[in-house]
Amino acid sequence: MAKVIARNPGEPEFHQAVMEVLESLEPVVEKRPEFIERGVIDELVEPERIIKFRVPWVDDNGKVQVNRGFRIQFNSAIGPYKGGLRFHPSVYEGIIKFLGFEQIFKNSLTGLPIGGGKGGSDFDPKGKSDAEVMRFCQSFMTELSRHVGADTDVPAGDIGVGAREIGYMFGQYKRLRNEYTGVLTGKGLTYGGSLARKEATGYGLCYFADEMLRARGMSFEGKTVVISGSGNVAIYATEKATALGGKVVALSDSNGYIYDANGIDLAAVKQIKEVERKRIKEYLTYHPEATYTEGCSGIWSIKCDIALPCATQNEINEESAKTLVKNGVKAVAEGANMPSTPEAIHTFQKAGVLFGPAKAANAGGVATSALEMSQNSMRLSWTFEEVDEKLHNIMRNIYKNAAKAAEDYGMKDNLVAGANIAGFLKVAESMLAYGVC
Ligand code: NDP
Repeated sequence: MAKVIARNPGEPEFHQAVMEVLESLEPVVEKRPEFIERGVIDELVEPERIIKFRVPWVDDNGKVQVNRGFRIQFNSAIGPYKGGLRFHPSVYEGIIKFLGFEQIFKNSLTGLPIGGGKGGSDFDPKGKSDAEVMRFCQSFMTELSRHVGADTDVPAGDIGVGAREIGYMFGQYKRLRNEYTGVLTGKGLTYGGSLARKEATGYGLCYFADEMLRARGMSFEGKTVVISGSGNVAIYATEKATALGGKVVALSDSNGYIYDANGIDLAAVKQIKEVERKRIKEYLTYHPEATYTEGCSGIWSIKCDIALPCATQNEINEESAKTLVKNGVKAVAEGANMPSTPEAIHTFQKAGVLFGPAKAANAGGVATSALEMSQNSMRLSWTFEEVDEKLHNIMRNIYKNAAKAAEDYGMKDNLVAGANIAGFLKVAESMLAYGVC
């Protein structure tokens, strides 16, 4: 850990992500010291390749703007690099590194042949015109196209990168390379996208949470649910949680949160967020009886049985976790990547709250991206029901494997450790098989 900190200064999110994994691996390396002796752990914390580039583009006033682009190809031991692109002003190398590192274990947990990578830019799509977003995406892909490919590295969406951005980038890749291959996932349905990909992360999160609840004789039925964010993951988590019998009462964005005691009207949220690209506050124009509060962290003070953080990293700190516990939360499952601080996780675990870590709970998105890759390679498409059923089975298996690994290594019910260990073993065995490389 000291080496990781010294070699990656000023990247606290990356340190946090590595620390959590290394702590979980202690009992594994006790049993299998060759993982240390052969340098597997040292190799694992060092990305195979970091690509950093200039992204110049012209805004609607004819002024040149320059952003930074990143792609970190972290680990390809079990398949081509796979992981999303994030466009958000907070993006820098440390954020992409933490996300790429987590992606290695998450992708391994899906049971599918995909390595770990992540990318993005400090570009902010918010408030930009479609033409500006298009020019940015084309410039971004002009450089990225040299480094990705259907058998090399297959990016997807993440914060700030949805169907619109994927469309612009896929169009540019096709034009530059004169080839029609599955180089990106999350594509539109008319040009190689998979049914159920849009829904996959949110649905998968609820399938995972449902498994976790059922193992303790509970379910979503009749439960009050609070979900943060109101983007892709939050919207489809709301849809599935409601279908499973839960009542979602709150959603947020980076400005504030809405509370609707009657249960969130998802059609209104989809109209505001997916069609009009407006702020969550607009919900009050549809439902004046609901309330809006400025500031997003206050959402965790709402009393609930199930909390699904689906916005961003470190959005639940120790204080928010204590409030949730005091209010009787029974289960927390992470839709966002690393949304709970280490202190928050400790608070949940100490209080006996069921806790589903992101690597396991939100793996449904990347798993369905891998299903999109399979369909692209076969030049076939499966029905919504086929993809959804495969997703459901994958999430059940992830739960089972994480729970079993935790038990096998003497940490029953600790799904954080279980997910890290189960994800690690497959990657580490492959790295051993390759020798030093
Ligand atoms: P979107 O861009 O669709 O939505 C992000 C949501 O989170 C928005 O409501 C946004 O509000 C809010 N948000 C973003 N940054 C912050 C912040 N700093 N503080 C408070 N709120 C914030 O992204 P996704 O739904 O795709 O992603 C959400 C999370 O899920 C991320 O952590 C992502 O890494 C993770 N994830 C996504 C997957 C996917 O398939 N899309 C797969 C696995 C994980 P605002 O509009 O105000 O910025």
